[in-house]
Amino acid sequence: MKAIFDERQWAHDPKHFMANGVVLPNPEQPERIERLHAGALAAGCTFETPKDAGLGPIAAVHSPEYLTFLQTIHKRWQFIDGAGQEVIPNIHPSNRTDSYPKSAVGQAGFHQADSACPIAAGTWESAYWSAQSAITGADALIDGTRSAYVLSRPPGHHAFGDQAGGFCFLNNAAIAAQRLVDHGLTPAILDVDVHHGNGTQGIFYHRDDVLTVSTHADPERFYPFFWGHGHERGAGAGLGYNLNLPLPRGTNDADFLTTLDTALSRVRAFGADVVVIALGLDAYIDDPFKGLAVTTEGFARIGAAVARLNLPTVLVQEGGYLCDELGYNLTSVLNGFQGA
Ligand code: ZN
Repeated sequence: MKAIFDERQWAHDPKHFMANGVVLPNPEQPERIERLHAGALAAGCTFETPKDAGLGPIAAVHSPEYLTFLQTIHKRWQFIDGAGQEVIPNIHPSNRTDSYPKSAVGQAGFHQADSACPIAAGTWESAYWSAQSAITGADALIDGTRSAYVLSRPPGHHAFGDQAGGFCFLNNAAIAAQRLVDHGLTPAILDVDVHHGNGTQGIFYHRDDVLTVSTHADPERFYPFFWGHGHERGAGAGLGYNLNLPLPRGTNDADFLTTLDTALSRVRAFGADVVVIALGLDAYIDDPFKGLAVTTEGFARIGAAVARLNLPTVLVQEGGYLCDELGYNLTSVLNGFQGA
């Protein structure tokens, strides 16, 4: 399978993370790249570097002020007396409709949903090339390739049109889907990450031209808490074009696959002619986030089930954190997909 990655995606090396009132090392480590790269190679992937499609396809999903913020905020932050190395918000507006401030601190609060997405000198470069990798992946399908794997890192599915969050800055899967729409295709995004794809849902929530489906640990007691519930079905023209399938904590392979069948049925009924898989590997039983209990063998079955859609498919990397099996789980899902 064709795979896409750019070395500039290493530049983002976040330090800060806070969970349960404790400052911890950020789990979205560059070392993930090494594990995922090896995992893709083991599944027979051939890597290529992305073309530079420019800002256009990114701006088709993200707002102009947000893109300016991402590109300039780290430099501006350094003008604050005694500022830290990373841009981290410490205040947030109550509503997205509240006034947009000129201050760097205020804009950080507006554009960064949580403390899990610190911005340092290399963040924009990595996020940009992660998105370009996804665009090149989408372009491969447009050019007639049946499947492609995108090692998009930093990940994307928690990024809204104008907001970073949960290790994500640019929504790679959404950007890929929009690229497909702009070429006359009808994509479904199927998100199998352990966390709900809240940014992706938000971007397409009012639209009926992209179906968004997400399986994830029940957000009642799991990140991202405020989104991912079953009653969120889309709005306006998009009503019925968002499907959330929250799962109880600790769900095993068999129950995950049963729910995945529901997701795949919805994708078929929608009439998608191309599929974007938001491929989180953190539903794994020994992933540090401990949300669900999918096994390495379970990932092969997920890959095989997705392949049975028999549609052109781009698999865009989302979560999946450092554990011994991270690379094997990617190999497993790609082997399952290719062997089906
Ligand atoms: Zn995740």
